[in-house]
This record gives sequence, C-alpha cells and structure tokens, in this order.
Amino acid sequence: MKGWTNYHSHTHYCDGKGTAEEYISRAVELGMISYGISSHAPTPFTWPWTMKREAMSDYFTDIQDCKAKYLGIIDVYSSLEVDFIPGVISVNSDWIVDADLDYSIGSVHFVDSFADGTPWEIDGASKVFDDGLQSIFGGDAKAAVQRYFALTRQMIQEAPPTIVGHLDKIKMQNANGLLFNENDRWYQKEIVETLEAVKGKGLMLEINTRGLYKKKTTTSYPSPWIFRYLKDMSIPIMINSDSHHTQEMTGFFSETAEQLVSAGLTQVMVLLNNDWQEGRLTVDGIEV
Ligand SMILES: [Zn+2]
Ligand SMILES: [Zn+2]
Repeated sequence: MKGWTNYHSHTHYCDGKGTAEEYISRAVELGMISYGISSHAPTPFTWPWTMKREAMSDYFTDIQDCKAKYLGIIDVYSSLEVDFIPGVISVNSDWIVDADLDYSIGSVHFVDSFADGTPWEIDGASKVFDDGLQSIFGGDAKAAVQRYFALTRQMIQEAPPTIVGHLDKIKMQNANGLLFNENDRWYQKEIVETLEAVKGKGLMLEINTRGLYKKKTTTSYPSPWIFRYLKDMSIPIMINSDSHHTQEMTGFFSETAEQLVSAGLTQVMVLLNNDWQEGRLTVDGIEV
C-alpha cells in the first residue's frame, strides 16, 4: 500500500471549512491510506476558533458515520487538537478524557494572559501578538519565546498528547527575523531541550506544512535544520497539513518529504488498524 496520511485537519465545528465526510471522500480520491480529523477542542472560555462544547457529540457522530461508511476503503480516526493552558485545559481535562479519542494532538497557541485575564494568542493576528509581547513581556521577544517553549515542555511532562503539534509555531510571528534568530544559541537550546522532553516521554512529533501553503513561513514546523536532531534522537514523526479546507489536505507534502528524506528521515508513523506503525517515506507517498 502506498499513499499519504494526514492526522491534523479541522472541520466546520471549529474554524475549518469542510465536513468530516468531505475530507474523507477527498482523501479516498487522493488515494490516501489513513486519515484523522482533529478540530480544535472546546476551551472553557469562548474563543473564535474552538469548537463549542455542545457540538462535541455531533462532531464525533459525524466521524463515527465516516468510519462505518468507509470501512475497508480508508482508515478514519477521531481526534482533537487540544490546547495546553496550565490549570485551564489539557488532554487531561475531563471533557477530553471522556471523548475517548483515537489519538490526541497537543498544541500551545496561548502563552499566559493579559492583565484582564484574556489568554494571549501567539498564532493569530500580528497586532494581538505585538500587544501581548509589549504588555506581558515588556517587549522582550526572547523571554516570550522561552516561555512558549517552557509551556510546551510543561505540556509534554504533565499532559502528554499522542502527537506534539507544530513545535515552533511561534516563528510565524518572526517574518524577516524581526524578533529572534533561529541560529542563536539560546533558541537552539530551547528547541533541543523540548525535543529531549518529547523523546523522554516517547511522544510523536508532527512535521506541519501549514505555514508553507498559507505563506506565513518559508519552512515547515519544525524548521528543516531541526530534522537532524529528530534523526539523531530517533523521534517518531509524520507529515501533517493542519488543513482547514479540503484543498489543503496534502499541501507541500512532496516538498517536505523530499527534505525529510534528504535529512535521512525515511520512516514515518502511520495509524493503520488502530495501531501506530512505521511506514517508508518517499517523495510521492508512504509505503506500508
Ligand atoms: Zn494549532
Ligand atoms: Zn491545527
């Protein structure tokens, strides 16, 4: 069997555009071998891009219907992309545990909060990013970035998800290197320490292509210079698109696979028959 997989995609229940059925029928057209739906999990506070708590049962019913309809055609899995905010939400929150997911994606989109308690979203509008950087961190980009990675490590230790989402997403705010330089020793130390935490907990890490096809970044999350650490540490990976639309499902997969393969990363994790197994990565798909 050969084809792509994608375990990170958002439906209309959060800020995505498609239904689970639209994603899965398109995945079949694309010859994909396994597919996971992962809308943004409900947060205890109201937020524009998270799923409403009361929509959860319909969300899971839609995925269950796809599992049944496409049985024997494509493996379909149910997940959520779950935020980590200490004491507020994590994969250990009761409404996430009760959902009995096939796997979870853990992501940090919020770093601390404004004086009025509003969480600071680090992957949204640059105006919001700049406001939080000034008012929470006094304009100290290094301190803000270090806090982002410290929270990511705290998530890994205290509430480990199946897959760590977009490891260095905060770099989307760093166009033209305005805030920091990925070559800086302190930055590379944050990355390596965070990877060591991933390795220590035995988690998987996604190679997320969304920044590329949305033209927010010129590199995947994480950046290609990090691939050699993934290889040296033998951290299990997969390519995910973080699609919010059916047109984005395999965006920049071939290009990213080419970079991974040339870095010596030729094994990716595939969820088949409810079991994570290794597949062989090539530039035009995964062989299992
Ligand atoms: Zn995310
Ligand atoms: Zn996402």
